[in-house]
Amino acid sequence: MITNSIYGLTFEQLAAWLLKHGHKQYRASQVWEYLYRKRVTNFSEMTEVNKDCIVLLEENFVIHTLSHHVKQEASDGTVKFLFKLKDGNLIETVLMRHKYGLSVCVTTQVGCNIGCSFCASGLLTKTRDLSSGEIVEQIMNVQHHLDNAGNGEKVSHIVVMGIGEPFDNFENMIDFLKVIIDQKGLAIGSRHITVSTSGIVNKIYEFADTNIPVNLAISLHAPNNDLRTKIMKINRAYPLEKLMDSINYYIEKTNRRITIEYILLKDVNDHIDEANELAALFQDKKKKVYINLIPYNPVDEHSQYQRSEQESVLAFYDTLKKNGINCKIRQEHGTDIDAACGQLRSKQIKKEKDNSITL
Ligand code: SAH
Ligand code: SF4
Repeated sequence: MITNSIYGLTFEQLAAWLLKHGHKQYRASQVWEYLYRKRVTNFSEMTEVNKDCIVLLEENFVIHTLSHHVKQEASDGTVKFLFKLKDGNLIETVLMRHKYGLSVCVTTQVGCNIGCSFCASGLLTKTRDLSSGEIVEQIMNVQHHLDNAGNGEKVSHIVVMGIGEPFDNFENMIDFLKVIIDQKGLAIGSRHITVSTSGIVNKIYEFADTNIPVNLAISLHAPNNDLRTKIMKINRAYPLEKLMDSINYYIEKTNRRITIEYILLKDVNDHIDEANELAALFQDKKKKVYINLIPYNPVDEHSQYQRSEQESVLAFYDTLKKNGINCKIRQEHGTDIDAACGQLRSKQIKKEKDNSITL
């Protein structure tokens, strides 16, 4: 069975592959035009590509490796897709509607090994990395869904914030970025793409060195080592001092702003003291940092955590502002469906297991 997704190839890789197999390089431009502009879903629809080339592509690549499993639509227009991979694994992709456009949140791994104590994705440890093609295809499937609706809508923003740790699947994630920002293809503006990491320090350095001009977000969630280690065990391997060094390097090297994500957990990390500590941490780089305060999406299995009271959220926000820190409270999407990252997948897996037990 061929499982190699055509979406996994950067333009240069496809051109080189076609050349090696006796086809002129301009075929790569044609194939890309069909894949990303006309958005065909079968090689046979690439009518201007010659027959030999179509057969060769069909013998070596597939366009579909994901199939729709479950789709949930929320009242605010958020659509959550649960896709089944060729090997039967399930992944989640979310489409969100904003004033500024349509964003898609993609998954990079089946499960996650980082195991943050508040997260639904970490409940199921990593089974495998996704290929770059499987990551691109999530966006293509959402775009096909929009194309079929016929309203001319186009995905404009991408957040790499679904299931998995993107920096633990670094090479595939980089190839994925190269494919989606390519002007000949989807041409998603690199400033419209955000990659989020739990703080794998050595990869933050490597990412800065790639010079791919997309945005970086760091899941910080605590302003000191004691608290951060309690809620994110990755802080043992990459403590705050090391993480801050890598953030400084990233800012110096790229001259771009960095986003800091901070989930507000009731009575855990949402006191004024922590807001002051957080502000102090970024006092020397106020212009280069943007803090996103994230309302926690409760996860059944992590009942020790609750969402912060609205009062605490506002007090936390005000304290940061008073200290001159750029910040905002993140707008929520799809709260009437399983909104937290990895929640739909873990619920579905549980449901299917329960069903197989009762059968
Ligand atoms: N692994 C990467 C990217 C995926 S998680 C990372 O951790 O950054 C994307 C974001 O969602 C992270 O900031 C993560 O901390 C946050 N998140 C995880 N579970 C959440 C929950 N239940 N409610 C709100 N945000 C959550
Ligand atoms: Fe993995 Fe990110 Fe969830 Fe942590 S928050 S378990 S790194 S997906």
